[in-house]
Order: sequence, then structure tokens, then C-alpha cells
Amino acid sequence: MPRAFITGITGQDGQHLAEFLHGKGYQVFGMIKGQNNPRAIQLAEEFPYVELIPGDLADLTSLVSALEYAQPDEVYNLGAISFVAISFNQAELTSNITGLGVLRMLEAIRMVGGVQNNPIRFYQASSSEMFGQVRQTPQTELTPFHPRSPYGCAKVFGHNITVNYRESYGIYACSGILFNHEGPRRGLEFVTRKVSNAVARIKLGVQQEIVMGNLDAKRDWGYAGDYVRAMWMMLQQDSPDDYVISTGETHSIEEFLTRAFDEAGLPDWHQFVRQDPRFFRPAEVDLLIGDSSKARKNLGWTPEVDFPSLVTMMVQHDLAIETAKLRK
Ligand code: GDP
Repeated sequence: MPRAFITGITGQDGQHLAEFLHGKGYQVFGMIKGQNNPRAIQLAEEFPYVELIPGDLADLTSLVSALEYAQPDEVYNLGAISFVAISFNQAELTSNITGLGVLRMLEAIRMVGGVQNNPIRFYQASSSEMFGQVRQTPQTELTPFHPRSPYGCAKVFGHNITVNYRESYGIYACSGILFNHEGPRRGLEFVTRKVSNAVARIKLGVQQEIVMGNLDAKRDWGYAGDYVRAMWMMLQQDSPDDYVISTGETHSIEEFLTRAFDEAGLPDWHQFVRQDPRFFRPAEVDLLIGDSSKARKNLGWTPEVDFPSLVTMMVQHDLAIETAKLRK
């Protein structure tokens, strides 16, 4: 039975990946941080097959212990302070966890992988936020980085150190440059889920408006379930490499709003949306659109869920859960 160790197990991608790897016959270990973490209880109920191991990306010793215990064939580093807006207020913490956390994990792999003579394969969750103020459209693996937030800067460090450890120590380490990927498990702080959830609540009469920031930004949004498949595929190749994972389509926040309101059968969104400076960022990423030809060719990966289906999935999911809450 192959063994996988996942950091960020309580997040959207951690959950999708745990499910996917379990389906492939893996024994799945998830790292959980903090004392009495409330998400651990929820996770244990929903994913009884995941064995939780305490550890923290800020603490190298805990990573070494966790790897010694799990003895994984594959490590997926999805753990991060992952919300761009928060990274502006907690820049140092973001750099430590999202950036230096990658270095600590690579060092832990070097120590444990070396001792056990077990060539652990490593996946680093890199991000299209590294492209930031884009130098080239669409963005490929060769597009220069110009991050626009502490989060983006930390991800650039994580990407570079992953490539460096591969080149320096021969670790099988891959960096997946994933464009935004969403779904019903997305946190409510991200714009897609914020909108799908608010639309459901407006439809049911329990919310009157949505307060938002910049509606002109454009993102290449895919479905998280498709994207975790790409992570796994990267670790099954003969040699490690870096890959852009994206749909190749871009849509504005406004387009997302229009479709989401339509899906719920609500009238024009303008009457429900108010903009507030609170939700604007000190520096914005205006346009992201990825060219994933390399992944499509070398890995045979293609996304299955397109933009309209993604919006439908998210709005219908939120309508169902919000309706269920009202019935309680
Ligand atoms: P990001 O691409 O990782 O920053 O993902 P988000 O979902 O947080 O944001 C996507 C885009 O939506 C960014 O350009 C934000 O500025 C924009 N946006 C506009 N209004 C909001 C809002 O109310 N919340 C969030 N999270 N983003 C917003």
C-alpha cells in the first residue's frame, strides 16, 4: 500500500487529495497543527481513513517526527497561510509558514529520506499568484515572476527552494503552479465561495447584500477536484518537473457574479452588490490566464469541469446547505 503524507489536510485541496488518494488505495496521513484543533474533529468524522499526525510547518523537529512516523512514499505540501488579503496584514507569519515552511519540509525529507534510504517524492503547491503583475499572457512555466502580495512573494520562495533542492540534492521534487481552483469546499473568504454562498442566502431571504472589492480582476478558475489529480500525476513520472495547471480561460469577478445570480434565478446582481474599500488590496493581480500545454502533453492531464459547471456546482451546493440550515 503506497503511503502519502499531506500538509494542509483541513483545507479544500487537502480534503480533495485525501479522497482521491484513498480511492487509489493509498494509506493517507494528514498533518494537523495546534492544540485541540476543532477542524481535527470534523476531519476525523468526514475522513475516517486519514490518520492525523501532529505537526507544524513552523517547527522542523515536528516535521521530522511526522515523516519518521508516516514513512511516506509521497509528501504533498499544501499547508500555507493561503489567503492573499490576510497576507498583507500578517506578512511575517505568511513568509514563515508559506515560504520557510517549504524549506523546513524539504530539510525534513532530506533527513528522514536519507536515514531510511527511502526516496520520498515531494509535491509543492505553488501558485499563479507568483506571476502577479503578469509579464506575459498566457502564463507558462517560463514566465518570469512578479508577485503582488506577501503571499505571492512567499510562494516564489517556496517554488525556488523546491527547484533548488531538486537540483542540489537530487530530491524528486515537483512544483505545481496551480491557477485558482475552487469548489464547494472553498473557504468562505475566497471570492467565488463568498459569492456562491451569498447568492444562496439572498435567494432564501436570509441575507440582503454582498459587500465586495474589485470586480474587474480576471482569474483562470478551475475545479479543485480536477487539480488534485494533476498533483498526483506529477509524482508518478520518471523524473520530477514543474507544471502549470490551469483551464486556459479567464473570467472577471463580474462574470462570476452574473452567472451565480442567474443560476439561482435572481434578478440583476447590481442591486445586491456594494463595493467597499475594505475589500480592495494594496496591490492587485489584474489578470491571470494559464497555458497548461506542458501538463496536458507530458502528464495527459485535462480539466473536466468548465467555468459554467463550476458556478452551477457551487451555487447549487450552497443552496442545498443553506436550505438545510433553515429547516433545522
Ligand atoms: P486570489 O486570486 O488568491 O486572491 O483569490 P480570491 O478569491 O481571494 O480573490 C480573487 C479576486 O477577487 C482578487 O482580485 C480580489 O481582489 C477580488 N475580489 C473582489 N472582491 C472580493 C472579496 O470580497 N473577497 C475576495 N476574497 N476577493 C475579492
